[in-house]
Amino acid sequence: MENIITIENLVFQYLRDEDGDTVQALKGVNLEIKKGSFTAIIGKNGSGKSTLAKNLNGLLLPTEGVVYVNGYDTKDYDHVWDIRQTAGMVFQNPDNQLVSAIVEDDVAFGPENLGIEPEEIRRRVNKALKDVNMGQFKKKAPHFLSGGQKQRVAIAGVVAMKPECIIFDEPTAMLDPKGRKEIMAIIDELHSEGITVILITHFMEEAVRADRVIIMHEGHVLLDGEPENVFEEEELIRSVNLDVPLMVQIGAKLRAKGINVPLNIITEEEMVDFICQYK
Ligand code: ADP
Repeated sequence: MENIITIENLVFQYLRDEDGDTVQALKGVNLEIKKGSFTAIIGKNGSGKSTLAKNLNGLLLPTEGVVYVNGYDTKDYDHVWDIRQTAGMVFQNPDNQLVSAIVEDDVAFGPENLGIEPEEIRRRVNKALKDVNMGQFKKKAPHFLSGGQKQRVAIAGVVAMKPECIIFDEPTAMLDPKGRKEIMAIIDELHSEGITVILITHFMEEAVRADRVIIMHEGHVLLDGEPENVFEEEELIRSVNLDVPLMVQIGAKLRAKGINVPLNIITEEEMVDFICQYK
């Protein structure tokens, strides 16, 4: 399948202070993201996940190396809107993403900036709010909504721009378990509709839903592959102070007691199915 994002030897440095000292947040990352895929990126705080995410739609530009989005180099200023429209971003704190006093105006903000016709904007806003189950709140003020509801409005604002890819940077980190579940259901739904999903998360239970897991460590890609293969590297993952998903831990404990749980069982549903069939 075709790549939507190609990253070649990406180095990113922040300027730390006026003396010109730098922090090298990404130290040479090479990645290809296929159209329609669902990739989870995990890693400790400071491992470079957010910096990577912001390099994927031109919010940050490489210090060295190249990032291509749908073939456009993110440094090519002439295509900055093509890039932003192709790859939308959802951040951790919904309060920082909502700009209007009324939900539907907020969702319309992105498409308005793209210069889309009012009639088409109205259609997109209604559809996007329906997609995130927030249709009945369209005339409400965002500050009356719960954190999870605000995050759903923020997602609708991105969806209304019809991106091919959405990068979610810890979208559930500030939400309660119910809000988290709702956001993850929406992410699954968007993926099933063909949107390429890149999900940065520190919840292993969210990462196992992806079809690819990338573990970042100190500005490098430490592991990259299908979730069941990545989480087999339990020792390496623990050596960088990360956990493996609960079902992987339970599977290992059951195997130690002689119950032959296959290594590819990593989600709750898979474990329940296995146990129900176990004789
Ligand atoms: P993560 O998302 O995995 O927590 P980040 O990409 O936020 O990691 O950070 C990677 C490194 O870059 C860290 O060492 C962090 O302190 C540094 N960093 C992040 N943002 C800035 C910034 N605006 N200025 C200077 N250093 C930064």
